[in-house]
Amino acid sequence: QGQAVTDVAIIGAGPSGAAAAAWLARRGLAVRVIERSRFPRFSIGESLLPQCMVHLEACGLLEAARGGNFQVKNGAAFTWRGRDTTIDFRDKFTPGPGTTWQVERAEFDQRLIEGARCAGAEVEFGSTVDAFVPDAERPRLTLTDARGERSTLEARFVLDASGYGRVLARLTGLARPSSLESRCALFTHVEDRIDCSRHDREKILIGIHPDHSDIWYWLIPFREGRASVGVVGHRAVLEAVGTSDSERLWHFIHAEPRLAELLAKAEAVRETGRLEGYSADVERLHGPGFALLGNAGEFLDPVFSSGVTIALDSALRAAPLVERQLGGEGVAWDTEFEQPLRRGIATFREFVDAWYDGRLPRIIFNERQTPRIRSMISSILAGYAWDAANPFVAASRRRLDSLAEACAVEPDNVATSAERH
Ligand code: FAD
Repeated sequence: QGQAVTDVAIIGAGPSGAAAAAWLARRGLAVRVIERSRFPRFSIGESLLPQCMVHLEACGLLEAARGGNFQVKNGAAFTWRGRDTTIDFRDKFTPGPGTTWQVERAEFDQRLIEGARCAGAEVEFGSTVDAFVPDAERPRLTLTDARGERSTLEARFVLDASGYGRVLARLTGLARPSSLESRCALFTHVEDRIDCSRHDREKILIGIHPDHSDIWYWLIPFREGRASVGVVGHRAVLEAVGTSDSERLWHFIHAEPRLAELLAKAEAVRETGRLEGYSADVERLHGPGFALLGNAGEFLDPVFSSGVTIALDSALRAAPLVERQLGGEGVAWDTEFEQPLRRGIATFREFVDAWYDGRLPRIIFNERQTPRIRSMISSILAGYAWDAANPFVAASRRRLDSLAEACAVEPDNVATSAERH
């Protein structure tokens, strides 16, 4: 069994792994990324938030991503029972970029990891991490390569960026169930053939099912006439129709008038995929000689497209701490990494709760708020969920409660969950 040594070992070459690898390699550390699959590989998570651009720039990967010439995104459109509304990320409270991209992740992720490689990181594709020995100074990973050969990788620090693999959370017993309800997503890519002049390809479209208001859809246009489309709901409700996931997906698309109209001529270009029970949490985001990034730590819910933003944010918080620790300084991982990271996640979490209990749809479909309030909401949906100057970050629940209450006096507001059930 072979043995290798590096400064930083990173499990997974998705956005969080690539961002951390690029940042650390640029500072002269020896970085080794271990990736189970071979790139390019499909991944869900295609609609970015403008906050991502700040992180991509900070780790030096913005130009690598820009080379993909991806579809520009400047906001989100919402549709529900014939009512349409939009949030434009350029009208926002927090300073920073107001646009981003909608990306085919196979290409986007490959560009990022190639960028990390150019920055000096070593990347080993086709190897799976399957054992781990935590240690404050010499944590050790065991890998199995494509030929089934096992080897050990000793590092001075390990970052787990394994996404839904949740490698270290499982191996160290830190995994804990999410308090969010388990949901299921069915999705595909289409040649969309959308010819509606009203449709704005620079916005993700989120639709709500006319009769089941906890079922929602995404339509994420890409460049060159392609798009990603998906439906999210409780498994039992999605499975109550059709005999295959493809039939179910299209059944639900046809049930939402705007999506049905837009996708009337669409043709699927890949098999329908399914992901379920993806919400996950951990006891702690760090331990002796390791920290958890992105989905390998906590994952909430896809509704606000916050996954890649949180993944990049976690990487850009952890990387400078790793550099400091390896330089001999003490790092308080709890107060310097976990607590600040979780503050932004908690903001998204409040918005996710408010989406499913009906407060947020009520707010979003009511356009009577002042431009300032709308710009504060826009900021969060653009990913600026860590900006404590925004009252919807500092006091998310109270603000959402009182705003939803104010919107409830509208005669034709969106039904609350109590009205729905
Ligand atoms: P990943 O991108 O998942 O990368 C992890 C990598 O680790 C993978 O390449 C994997 O092969 C590798 N790996 C796993 N196990 C091992 C192992 N044992 N050894 C070696 N390598 C391993 N986010 C958005 O920002 N926008 C969206 O629109 C969006 N839509 C979503 C829709 C759905 C239905 C779901 C479920 C999620 C969505 N997300 C979205 C979330 C997004 O997919 C993730 O948050 C994001 O990919 C996380 O990035 P990551 O770097 O943490 O992990």
